[in-house]
Amino acid sequence: KTGIVIVGAGHGGCSLAAALRASNYAGDITLLSEEADYPYHRPPLSKAFMCSGEANDGDRLLLQHESFYRDNRIDLKLDARVAAIDVASSCLTLASGERLAYGHLALATGSRARSLSIPGSDLQGVEVLRTLVHARRLRERLENCQNVVVVGGGFIGLEVAATARKLGKEVRVLETAERILQRSVAPVTSEYITGQHRAKGIAIELNTCVEAFAGSNGRVTAVTCAGQHWPADLVIVGAGAMPNSELAEAAGIACANGILVDAQMRTSVPNVFALGDCAAHENAYAGKERIRLESIQNANDQARVVSQVLTGNESRYHSVPWFWSDQGDIKLQMAGLSIGRTECVTRGDPQQGRFSVFHYRDDTLIAVDSINQPLEHILSRKLLAQGISPAKTVIADTAADLKQLLG
Ligand code: FAD
Repeated sequence: KTGIVIVGAGHGGCSLAAALRASNYAGDITLLSEEADYPYHRPPLSKAFMCSGEANDGDRLLLQHESFYRDNRIDLKLDARVAAIDVASSCLTLASGERLAYGHLALATGSRARSLSIPGSDLQGVEVLRTLVHARRLRERLENCQNVVVVGGGFIGLEVAATARKLGKEVRVLETAERILQRSVAPVTSEYITGQHRAKGIAIELNTCVEAFAGSNGRVTAVTCAGQHWPADLVIVGAGAMPNSELAEAAGIACANGILVDAQMRTSVPNVFALGDCAAHENAYAGKERIRLESIQNANDQARVVSQVLTGNESRYHSVPWFWSDQGDIKLQMAGLSIGRTECVTRGDPQQGRFSVFHYRDDTLIAVDSINQPLEHILSRKLLAQGISPAKTVIADTAADLKQLLG
């Protein structure tokens, strides 16, 4: 048995196949996707794709042109869901019953949208957004609705809210926490983004926990919580994501909120790797805590590590995490992780619509949120990668040149 089988053809799986060929990997590469669409970019689904007509449903979203797979001898199989893995015989079974042997296996199964188990969740018009199939359905529903309620003030929820508002819909975001994006950004950043969305006419309700969806004739008509009753002909639930790790778990591969991997992305089974949203790894920027990251950067960087390891090169995952979220006119970029933050220092004036917030754990710089400041974002990534923690007074002084701090 030689060659690699990659389960999942999202950002991680596709980038692994491409990186292997770029590193002259000589073995067979089989890339399995349970989806029917050619592998595509997910980030635009909550942004530009929603506003575009059907004509834009084609090549623009593709991760690679269809010919790429043929030209690079990557055997891409669509509609090919893996149903079981037998690690003892290095063999897997597709839902169709077909069996495939592998030399190495890479699990890039991603994550799925968390759904809510509250009354009315199964009504038509209560949607989630993870795949192109979801996005096409949402885009169609958006055409014929007026009142949109977004449950969850996280990245996807806020991006969709901004897009729906741009399309002229009445939009209300319901968030259980006291501020939006609470786990990801600084209070100043949350406050700025909330203000911008509200100024555009999006209603944002904080400390609000949805209790039920009401409907008539099987279709959603309202969202209720704490005596409030908000009309809704479309509900988008953006309540976070869950790792697709059941396949690995059933095969006896160690899992705990994701598939456990080491710094080379190896699972508890030596010839099986995991990467991307589904991989629970020890992250140097999270104080060695085991976490999963849900970002394009993480999927691509972990794919690169697997490719290096499989082509005989020394490589360990040690990237500075970074992420972006475009919400209407707001370009939010984040570097590092704010876990354990004790203090925040703002550089620039939020009133001007361009600023960064530097997160410190005591005197150590751990993360930076940048709003419409792409250069500061890039510099922040470099500062974090080099382990440089500028004095807080320097950060607060916009006349100080951050570039000079770099080694
Ligand atoms: P995925 O891209 O989810 O791919 C996993 C694939 O595996 C899926 O196609 C799945 O169907 C398939 N699969 C699962 N189980 C099986 C099986 N048993 N058999 C066969 N196939 C299987 N990140 C950013 O950094 N910036 C953004 O702006 C951003 N915006 C986003 C907007 C939206 C709407 C969404 C949904 C995500 C966004 N993300 C963004 C997150 C980013 O898309 C993910 O972190 C990234 O796709 C993870 O890559 P992955 O390969 O781990 O998983």
